[in-house]
Amino acid sequence: MKTTTRVAVIGGGVVGCSVLYHLTKLGWSDVMLIERSELTSGSTWHAAGGFHTLNGDTNMAALQGYTIRLYKELEEITGMSCGLHHVGGITLADNRDRFDMLLAERAKHRFMGLETEIVGPEEIAKIAPITNLDGIIGALYDPLDGHLDPSGTTHAYAKAARMGGATIETHCMVRETNQRPDGTWDVVTDKGTIHAEHVVNAGGLWAREVGAMAGVYFPLHPMEHQYIVTDDIPEIYERGSEHPHVMDPAGESYLRQEGRGLCIGFYEQPCKPWAVDGTPWTFGHELLPDDFDKIEESIEFAYKRFPVLASAGVKSVIHGPFTFAPDGNPLVGPVPGMRNYWSACGVMAGFSQGGGVGLTLAQWMIEGEPERDVTALDVARFGRWISPGYTRPKVIENYQKRFSVSYPNEELPAARPNRTTPMYDIFSDMGAVWGQQFGLEVANYYAQGDEPTYETPSFRRSDAFAATGREVRGVRQGVGINEVHNFGKYMVTGPRARAWLDRIMAGRIPAPGRLSLTPMLSAKGKLIGDFTVSCLSETEFQLTASYGSQDYHMRWFQQHQEDSVTIENISDKRNGFQIAGPKARAVLAACTRDDVDSLRFMDVRRMVVGMTDCIVQRVSYTGDLGYEIYCDPMAQRQLWWTLWQAGQDHGMIPFGMRAMMSLRLDKFFGSWLREFSPDYTAAETGLDRFIAFKKEADFIGRAAAEAERAAGPARRLCAFEVDADGADVNAYEPIWLEGAVVGFCTSGGYSHHAGKSVALGFLPVERIADGLEVEIEILGQMRPARVISQPLFDADGARMRG
Ligand SMILES: Cc1cc2nc3c(=O)[nH]c(=O)nc-3n(C[C@H](O)[C@H](O)[C@H](O)COP(=O)(O)OP(=O)(O)OC[C@H]3O[C@@H](n4cnc5c(N)ncnc54)[C@H](O)[C@@H]3O)c2cc1C
Repeated sequence: MKTTTRVAVIGGGVVGCSVLYHLTKLGWSDVMLIERSELTSGSTWHAAGGFHTLNGDTNMAALQGYTIRLYKELEEITGMSCGLHHVGGITLADNRDRFDMLLAERAKHRFMGLETEIVGPEEIAKIAPITNLDGIIGALYDPLDGHLDPSGTTHAYAKAARMGGATIETHCMVRETNQRPDGTWDVVTDKGTIHAEHVVNAGGLWAREVGAMAGVYFPLHPMEHQYIVTDDIPEIYERGSEHPHVMDPAGESYLRQEGRGLCIGFYEQPCKPWAVDGTPWTFGHELLPDDFDKIEESIEFAYKRFPVLASAGVKSVIHGPFTFAPDGNPLVGPVPGMRNYWSACGVMAGFSQGGGVGLTLAQWMIEGEPERDVTALDVARFGRWISPGYTRPKVIENYQKRFSVSYPNEELPAARPNRTTPMYDIFSDMGAVWGQQFGLEVANYYAQGDEPTYETPSFRRSDAFAATGREVRGVRQGVGINEVHNFGKYMVTGPRARAWLDRIMAGRIPAPGRLSLTPMLSAKGKLIGDFTVSCLSETEFQLTASYGSQDYHMRWFQQHQEDSVTIENISDKRNGFQIAGPKARAVLAACTRDDVDSLRFMDVRRMVVGMTDCIVQRVSYTGDLGYEIYCDPMAQRQLWWTLWQAGQDHGMIPFGMRAMMSLRLDKFFGSWLREFSPDYTAAETGLDRFIAFKKEADFIGRAAAEAERAAGPARRLCAFEVDADGADVNAYEPIWLEGAVVGFCTSGGYSHHAGKSVALGFLPVERIADGLEVEIEILGQMRPARVISQPLFDADGARMRG
């Protein structure tokens, strides 16, 4: 057995083999896979082998498209068969919301180059004639859907990897992974120890156990899953062609032809987690006992939807476990806080996603960053706060909702409330309707009188509309207050803090007492952060950014850590409030003996507010006159009462995230992971105006940013006023001009201040002109829209800066 390798991939399921292949494809041949049994000895061997592109997350859908297209390439390289059946598939909609979701997906596919189609009942009857169409409104047809042979495909990945120089060691159990002081790993196996520069956990069903060997908790959980293969069915085998796939979300089932019969699987509500306290090492090529009780209702429903099933006998039942992360997406990438330890686990749809997971990880390891925004699958999207007690109910919820409609404003209830600030009870008593971000409860809006205390999920304007409008007016006309708990916050200190920041951040690092806004770029010039830097002293800087990206940002900071610089994540150690609106200054002035008038826009100062030591900075994402007031969380309630009491003379109201997102639209302010993400560059999004090209420091991404400045970006972010009809832009709606799709939206919503529907989105630079008339496809309807360049509030910044 090889005893040294650049990469040791642990696990020979479809995911491990794909990672191994992609490492060789991108140029690393000294790589090795270690499998305790035969290849496919986890979930992989008993998978139904189905694949599809449909995924609510656009980048996940693109990754699935890559995976599916890869199979032909694999067959060509290896001469092996993946057993491909590209039969196409439809996803049925039996109610308006499901149909809306499919319309929104179809719209996205237009600029993603996916040739899906919306079809009506008549076409469904032709495509999938075994379907009972009672109540069916329409469906989404995807010609790329199909299925394959799971074992053949995994072995094809393995062969392609071997052809690229990789080694595969089967019947070799990894017992320990021990890190050496230089960051490399000793991978201790039954057959001896392998010294590896990098370790990849592709342990699938055992990923938790493999992670524990390195002291890492991976938030995933196996679930039992069952599908049935029927006896021969004449309506199937007498057809001239293979029957396509049918996904029936209402029945939580997926169905396809298997031989001369059908195969149907269910995501049933009475689902069961498996191996709660750990996956036994003795488990391998066995199945779980049949459990018809659990799928009884699903089967009944399926008999009505596909009447041919009722008379078909059951040939076999496949019941096995596979793993899910709390949101159902894979856990991929460098594990935060670790050196040279990579994750490729939690993949619940290995045959739709395995190829893309392998490519993403190989790009990350070899090229330093994946080619697109992979937040949806980044292992860093869950923080250190996550525990098995949280993961399990979330995974159950995700399994149960696998085929449910996902709404843009939906807040999922399982495992909540989990993390709360000292304000939780106070705000709850004031009518707060809570959302959740990175495990933290965040007020979305405050219900008053008989307003709903639960926001009904919807693709259209929700029943939070009135409350949101009231809060927006409260801010614009008086003063609003909310917490600053959902900012990621970091302290960077030490004699070389400024020099370090100058290298990490592309923008100007401010002088003492001042703030600056700055993009953070990857080496390839992609946006990986959108920060506010506050200089408290020459050796002390506070950074704020997105709360949900804490582990993502800390991972980057630690990768670039230098001596004489201390970086601390203080996101939950510093809290406080934001007050915003024309009366904000008067409120603050009433709470401090400090000279508030002399605090200019973008100033930061330590102040005593009431009896609390605070850091106060004059800036507000609402685009209004506003202040962020940070304090120790132990003093937060005291600070609250001080500000709230002072605010009563000025009509202060609490406002939530729904109002915040409307307010920022008035000024066309972009938002992290919507307008600003690793999919885009600073020049495309307008953040290049914050790049300090003149500073001496060779900041990360400088060469790419300079090259883009010289050539100019091909597309640019624009704002649009939309003639909407009760449904505003959410994200990724196509933008049409002269009968062709020329761009797409990044986000949008309703400006309650201006009484207009607003969208942000990309257009080709040469087409951008103030007033340009376009159409935006919202839920299947072409809505007229026009480019606007004047912000809808405080266009000259007089109020914000005044
Ligand atoms: C009933 C059922 C139907 C399914 N249908 C589909 C479908 O139609 N389409 C689809 O895309 N997906 C389907 N899936 C899901 C699919 O099976 C998984 O997404 C996929 O198999 C995950 O692959 P993996 O490589 O991550 O994990 P696994 O297949 O679990 O592989 C992990 C491997 O790691 C090895 N290993 C673990 N620990 C060690 C160690 N310490 N040392 C050495 N080796 C180790 C194991 O032996 C195993 O071979 C289905 C799953 C089930 C249960």
